[in-house]
Amino acid sequence: MRKKLIITNSIIVFVSLVILLIVSGIIISKVNDNNTKEEIKSYLNIAEGVFTGSNYTETVEIINNAKPTLRITFISLDGEVLYDTLAEGELDSHSNRPEIINLGTVVTRYSDTLSLRMMYVASVDSGVYLRVAIPISSVNNIIFNFMLVSIITLIIITILSILIMMPINKETLKPLKKVVDKMEKIVEFSGDYYYDNIETLSHHIDKVSNLLNERIKDVEEEKQKVDFILNNMNQGLIVISSDKKVVLVNDYICNIFNLKKENIINKDYLYVIRDVELQKQISKAIEDSLISSLEIKVSDQVYLVYFNTIKNSWLTHSNSKSGVALLFTNITKTKKIEIIKKEFFANASHELKSPLTTIIGYQQMIQEGIIKDKKEIELATANTIKEANRMNAILSEMLELSKLENIKKPKIDDVDISLIIKDIINSCSNNIKNKNLSINLDLKDVIIKMNTDHAIHLVRNLIDNAIKYNIDQGFINIKLDKNLLTIADSGIGIDEEHQTRIFERFYRVDKGKSKELGGTGLGLAIVKHICSLYNFNISLKSKKNQGTEFTIDFKS
Ligand code: ADP
Repeated sequence: MRKKLIITNSIIVFVSLVILLIVSGIIISKVNDNNTKEEIKSYLNIAEGVFTGSNYTETVEIINNAKPTLRITFISLDGEVLYDTLAEGELDSHSNRPEIINLGTVVTRYSDTLSLRMMYVASVDSGVYLRVAIPISSVNNIIFNFMLVSIITLIIITILSILIMMPINKETLKPLKKVVDKMEKIVEFSGDYYYDNIETLSHHIDKVSNLLNERIKDVEEEKQKVDFILNNMNQGLIVISSDKKVVLVNDYICNIFNLKKENIINKDYLYVIRDVELQKQISKAIEDSLISSLEIKVSDQVYLVYFNTIKNSWLTHSNSKSGVALLFTNITKTKKIEIIKKEFFANASHELKSPLTTIIGYQQMIQEGIIKDKKEIELATANTIKEANRMNAILSEMLELSKLENIKKPKIDDVDISLIIKDIINSCSNNIKNKNLSINLDLKDVIIKMNTDHAIHLVRNLIDNAIKYNIDQGFINIKLDKNLLTIADSGIGIDEEHQTRIFERFYRVDKGKSKELGGTGLGLAIVKHICSLYNFNISLKSKKNQGTEFTIDFKS
C-alpha cells in the first residue's frame, strides 16, 4: 500500500508539473511570439527612420548593430530584391510574398531562400519595400532553454517528493498496519495478500464485516431460541440482580401478575412481587445466598416458588451479594388433588371405622357373655354381617375408584347400552318390586365404544340410585336414543345447594338415609370419573320431592 501511495503521489506530482510546464511553455511561447512581433515591428520602424531611399548598407549596419540576427531586405515595388542581408545571388520576385501583400502584418512562414522558418514584417518607404525578418529558431531557443531547465527541475522535484514522502507515508500508515494486524487476529485470513496492499485491507474489512454479520445473525437466532423457550415454558421465570432490579422475566410471569414486560424490566422487584413473605425470602437470598422455596397464592392460584442464587457478574456487578432466579410452578391442581386425597382418606377412615366399631362392639359383647340369648346373638351376628357387607361395599368402590384413577388406556368394546340397561333392571327386580316401581323403557339400539365393565358400573349406579331414592309406587323412565341416555325418577329429588356436590367422594345429601339404604357415597363419584375418562357429559335436573333426571351425552 505504501509503495502504491508513493507511486501515485509521485505520478500526481509529475503530471501536475508536466501540465504546469506545458501550460507555461505555451504561455511563454505566446508572450515571446508577441514580443518578437513587437520587436521586429519596432526594428522596421527604426529602419524606416534611418532609410533614405538608397543607403542600404548604412541602414543595415545601424539595425544589425542593435540586433545582429535580423535579416533586412530591400525590395523594389515590382518585387525585385535590391538588397538582402542574408541571401546571396539572384533572387526571384518577392512581390507575391505574404508580408509584401499584407504590409504591416507580421507573417511567420518558411523561407525558401534561407531554408528556415522566419517571422517577417514589411512596409513601403521611399519607393522601396523595406522588410525586416528574424529566424524563428532564435525565438524557439529561449523556449527550449526554458523547457530544459524546467524538465530538470521537474525531475529533481519528483525525486525529492519521493524521498520526502517515503518516511512520512511509513509513519502515516503505521496505525493502518495496526488495524490490519488487529483484524487478522479477529478473522483467519488466507490468500496471497500483503499488509501494505490496499486490497488486503479492503479484503480484511469485507471479511470482518461478513463475520460480524454472521455473528449478529447467530446471536439473534440464539436470542430467538432462548426467548421462545422462556416464553413457552410452563413455568414462570424471573431473574433479579443483586441491586434488586428485574433483569429477565418471561411471559408466564407477566400473565401471573398481569403486567407488561416493558414495565417490569429494570424496575425494583417490589414492583412485581407483592407477597410480603416472598419479598423477605428474595431479600435473604440476595444478602445471604440462601436457597429456599416457598408457596404463594396469587388470585386463586397456588405457586411453588423455587429460589436459585446466581453469582454471575452481570447480575451481581461484582459485589458480594447474589442475583436470584425465581422459578414459579403452578401447583394449584396438585394442591387440590392433595386436599381431595386428604379428605378422601379422612372420609374413608371414618366410613370404615364406624362399621368396624359396630362389628367389634357386637363381637366383644358376645365374647364377654353380655349377649347370651340365642335370638340376641343371631341379631348381633346379622348386624355384624350387615356392617361387614357395608365395609366390603365401601372397599370395593374405593378399589374401583382407585383403578379408574390409574387407568391410562381402557380396553374398548362395542357396548350395547340397551342390553346392559335391561340386564340391570332384571338384576334389580326384587328392589323394584319391593317399592312397587313402574319402569318405563324407551330404548333404541345404541352401540357405544367403551369398556363394558365401565358401562355396567355407570348405568348400574344411576339405576340403583333411581331405585334407592325413589318413593313407593314411583316410576323410573329410561330413554336411550342416539347418543343420549336419560334416567328419570319420581324420587325424593336433590336440593339445588347439593346438586354440584353429589359427585364428590362420600358426599351424601342425607347420610343416615344413604347408610340405611346401603349407600357408600362413592357411586356418583365413580359415574363422574367414568364419564370424564371417555369425555362423556353428565348433567342433572332435580327438584326436591319432585324427582331427579340424569342425562349422559355419549358423544360430547
Ligand atoms: P350413595 O351411595 O349414598 O347413593 P352416591 O354417590 O351414589 O352415593 O350418591 C350421592 C348422593 O346423591 C346420595 O347420597 C344421595 O343423597 C344423592 N342422590 C344420588 N342419586 C339420587 C337420586 N336419584 N335421587 C335423589 N338423590 C340422589
